[in-house]
Amino acid sequence: MRIKVHLEQLYDELPEDVQLVAISKYHPCEAIMEAYNAGQRVFGESHVQELLQKQPVLPQDIQWHFIGHLQTNKVKYITPFVSLIHSVDSLKLLSEIDKQARKAGRVIDVLLQIYVAQEETKFGLSEEELIETLNTIFSQKAEGTTFSFRIIGLMCMATNTLDDTLIHSEFAYAHEIFREVKDTYFKDEPSFKELSMGMSDDYRIAIKEGTTMVRIGSYIFGERNYE
Ligand SMILES: *Cc1c(COP(=O)(O)O)cnc(C)c1O
Repeated sequence: MRIKVHLEQLYDELPEDVQLVAISKYHPCEAIMEAYNAGQRVFGESHVQELLQKQPVLPQDIQWHFIGHLQTNKVKYITPFVSLIHSVDSLKLLSEIDKQARKAGRVIDVLLQIYVAQEETKFGLSEEELIETLNTIFSQKAEGTTFSFRIIGLMCMATNTLDDTLIHSEFAYAHEIFREVKDTYFKDEPSFKELSMGMSDDYRIAIKEGTTMVRIGSYIFGERNYE
């Protein structure tokens, strides 16, 4: 019951233009089905192995988002079905997604993960690396290269802190980068419109700072059991 109640509360609370990605990592298929039966169709997982166990046995109209660090050698397992990869943090990964999406006969939507937090989190592109990555992609495009991925926005994680002011400033910084990138590279591409930020503890701040996609796990499903 808890899952349905919390989902419905989120549906009420989230602005219309903010998409809810229910993060189901470490939670069993029964919990996912409870959310599914309450109307949720978009779910996020952060481990390839776990996603590959769940995807075949759950309803096929679920849209699976991949949100965790993705190793290039595992890309091929998720490209046949994944609907959005949030966590692209290198050109190498992007070119592997391109290759595997092509093999699967698909064009896969991705977000570039940017690093905005104060703490030592390992993943995400700095602002400079983001610009370098986009310059490389767009110069290849200008030479006529076509890609089997589509960059539809950016993703970030804020520092894990109780300091709301810090979280506000990190999300505001992400939004500023998003706007700059949109203006510089994607002015004529309406599909570039997503800013994935906000989790259970900071999604309200993310809404104030212009998120379009919140990734909420423990608030919906309860604490994760990491065994
Ligand atoms: C686990 C995870 C979430 C969800 O975190 P909660 O605090 O449980 O809402 C969101 N984003 C990423 C990248 C995660 O790994």
